[in-house]
Amino acid sequence: MKYCLDCDWHAAATDEPDQRDRSRAAIDHHVETGHAIDSSESLVRPTTPDGFGAVLACDLSPSSD
Ligand SMILES: [Zn+2]
Repeated sequence: MKYCLDCDWHAAATDEPDQRDRSRAAIDHHVETGHAIDSSESLVRPTTPDGFGAVLACDLSPSSD
């Protein structure tokens, strides 16, 4: 199950039987709201759109100072 850390949004198997649909819904929610999604069912990092990649790239970039 995926759920939002910032509001009561969630995607459970009872709502979306297809894990790919749940992943897409979670990513859509993150992109639309900027909320953090906890996806404990993921064992590996899924392919992510620019939203997540941009955050990760920013975190990993060395300071320009
Ligand atoms: Zn949310």
